[in-house]
Amino acid sequence: MSEQLAKVARMTRSVSQLEQYEQCGHQYYLRRVQRVTPRPAAWSHQGTAFHSAIEAYERSGRQLAVGVVTEMFSDEYTSLTTRAMREEPRLDRWMTAGRKAPVADIEDRHTLGREQAAAYVAWAQDKGPSIWKAPDGKLGIELHLTVEIGGVTVQGYVDQLPVEPTGSVRVRDLKTGSMKSKFQLQTYGVLVRKALGLEVERGDWYMAKKGSLSRPVDLAQVPEEEIGRRFADMDQGVKAGRFPASPGFHCRFCDVSHSCSFFSS
Ligand code: SF4
Repeated sequence: MSEQLAKVARMTRSVSQLEQYEQCGHQYYLRRVQRVTPRPAAWSHQGTAFHSAIEAYERSGRQLAVGVVTEMFSDEYTSLTTRAMREEPRLDRWMTAGRKAPVADIEDRHTLGREQAAAYVAWAQDKGPSIWKAPDGKLGIELHLTVEIGGVTVQGYVDQLPVEPTGSVRVRDLKTGSMKSKFQLQTYGVLVRKALGLEVERGDWYMAKKGSLSRPVDLAQVPEEEIGRRFADMDQGVKAGRFPASPGFHCRFCDVSHSCSFFSS
């Protein structure tokens, strides 16, 4: 077993690891064992900068002015995309949605991200969700939680924990794109219950594209054993060095396809 594979075999698991492994084991192998540099994508920097700006806004007790929040988005987005352009100056290698040219995509997402940050501030001022606070004052924002599920150590960053009228908390994930993972909400529900001892009945997504919440997802009946089984299967597969390739439609969005011998466009 190579040193890097041994390191990956020991890693704490996460939803993104599991979903990547289940979709295509070879992609997991290229990214995490072979450490292939992924092709950059402006959408990923848009998501990171949006999360940072909203986190700062929420941690300020919603006191930051909308202009400050949009500037925070701009600063981080510009810094991230500038660094990524230095690392990969050939913009034709950048990933974009559809056929949009990378330069236009980078510029458009800057404008869009600012609009989305402003829309979040307006939404939060209007709806005023109450965010859970721990007895020590720690706010339920971007919480890093780690627990054991199915005998596997699993970690996750929970974007927000609003309090329900019943006193339970809701698991909320902020999305700048359209992809939603119910499994992520279910796993985070288990993380919150086990790590914080809180009751979780529902989860949802704040959809930045719409500036509103999705329909709530029922998390009260989530079988922890089922989630644990998936993590255990994935963990065993990695430890056994099993990384089967699963070529398909998703190869179009694979950021390591340039190093994949199974890829055909
Ligand atoms: S291009 Fe397709 S088959 Fe190759 S690693 Fe990516 S997802 Fe897997």
